[in-house]
Amino acid sequence: MSELNAIIESYGQLEIEMRQCMQQVCEPFCGRCQATCCRPVYCRESLDSPFLAEVHRRFAPDARWDAALGWLTSTGCRLAAGRPPVCYEFLCRTILDAQPSPQARSRLEALAVLLTDAGRRAAGRRHLVELTDLDCINAGRLTKQLALARSLLDGLRKELRSNQS
Ligand code: SF4
Ligand code: SF4
Repeated sequence: MSELNAIIESYGQLEIEMRQCMQQVCEPFCGRCQATCCRPVYCRESLDSPFLAEVHRRFAPDARWDAALGWLTSTGCRLAAGRPPVCYEFLCRTILDAQPSPQARSRLEALAVLLTDAGRRAAGRRHLVELTDLDCINAGRLTKQLALARSLLDGLRKELRSNQS
């Protein structure tokens, strides 16, 4: 497997697992909230970014783009992987204030920026999702950052499980 392939695979797998973790915490709030944080204009980056387009091609090949609504449906986002990292970064006041402890809040905030941090400085100062040419990717840096994100996610998941038991 080429370095780029390995990076796409690690990132996609990481995104699916972190999304599941975030969903566990956020769903009880978002599921009954009338506000719609998503906007089709935000969805667009998932198509415009060659890296994200590749992640969703591999990990969510059946997701269908809607010209008016993007990935948004009446029940939430239909894109399982390859979402813009900014979609995970936003945590509203309701969700943050409802966390049972400062530790739980920090854990959630760390989860929310996992993909953003993993993709930093992918080529020069540009983020992974901003690259137009994936051949210029700094594979060594990205591989290290993804490994760090993986170990952070595993630790955060362990804490989440032990707090639920
Ligand atoms: S993030 Fe907050 S404001 Fe947005 S849908 Fe969820 S609960 Fe509502
Ligand atoms: S979470 Fe999905 S529907 Fe919402 S803005 Fe992001 S890509 Fe679009």
